[in-house]
Amino acid sequence: MSLEIKNLRISFRRANTLFEAVHGVSFSLGDGRALGIVGESGCGKTLSAMSVMRLLPSTAVITEGEIVYNGLDILSLSEKEMRMIRGNKIALIPQDPLTSLNPLYTIGDQLMEVILLHQEVTKKEAKEIALESLNMVKIPDASKRFDDYPYQFSGGMCQRVIIAMALASEPDLIIADEPTTALDVTVQAQIMELFSEIRQKRKTSLILITHDLGLISENVDDVAVMYAGAVVEYASVKELFLNPSHPYTKGLLGSLPRGGKERLKIIEGQPPQVGEIISGCRFHPRCEFVMDKCNKKYPERYFLSDNHSVNCFLYE
Ligand code: SF4
Repeated sequence: MSLEIKNLRISFRRANTLFEAVHGVSFSLGDGRALGIVGESGCGKTLSAMSVMRLLPSTAVITEGEIVYNGLDILSLSEKEMRMIRGNKIALIPQDPLTSLNPLYTIGDQLMEVILLHQEVTKKEAKEIALESLNMVKIPDASKRFDDYPYQFSGGMCQRVIIAMALASEPDLIIADEPTTALDVTVQAQIMELFSEIRQKRKTSLILITHDLGLISENVDDVAVMYAGAVVEYASVKELFLNPSHPYTKGLLGSLPRGGKERLKIIEGQPPQVGEIISGCRFHPRCEFVMDKCNKKYPERYFLSDNHSVNCFLYE
């Protein structure tokens, strides 16, 4: 699996005017690798990742950029070709498992429906694949629970079923959008452990979208930190935590609880709204290191090493 996003720009159309929400995002992902996209709500992380499946809100328009998946130019594929990729080659794990399952159908029926939609198999074979997927995500007594309804499952178990649905077609890329936000902490850890096992067994690549740096630290190889629609820092996870460089990343890490009596740092101010025009570096109204030039032009991407880049004039 290979994925490359280059200079992606996405705008929202409102009353014949385009408001840019994603400003030239670039990242890449290789076979079996995991990329974390981290940032506050509304920073463009979900829009950037969903563009890979071309699942964007109806008012969103990709105005520029390239998305190349396994050599295919995603932006020029027909809707029919995209349907072959969605749910088949690239699977989505949504945030809230309960609203993603139909309460009127059994878990087994919903799993089989997905399998029959994407694979040319008989009903008997679909049931075998469904049970195998439920076993893979460690649903106890999978054959007995096959005919249960979603309300008979806990939130964590429902999320396992959603993951089983995603795995049934053996995708080579999973996009997980805040997959554990609706779950309690111990279930969170179990679900992330499950992702890790799946990645090891199947060499599946993962894009993990989250606002939670703690989750990122243990579950991905590389991290793109996004702020106000742009990637501001990109690094291997180890490098990011050892040597955070962008003032925003430093602020995010400074606001993580560490135990002890040390007071948490907060980043003063608010991120801009979509469409709000901010000249220069979009972080400058909140940055404690702001310089004269920061509000005049947008900082380029400066490379601190092969696997660490940052968009900030401090590294010019
Ligand atoms: Fe702060 Fe300037 Fe760097 Fe932006 S470019 S993060 S304002 S120092």
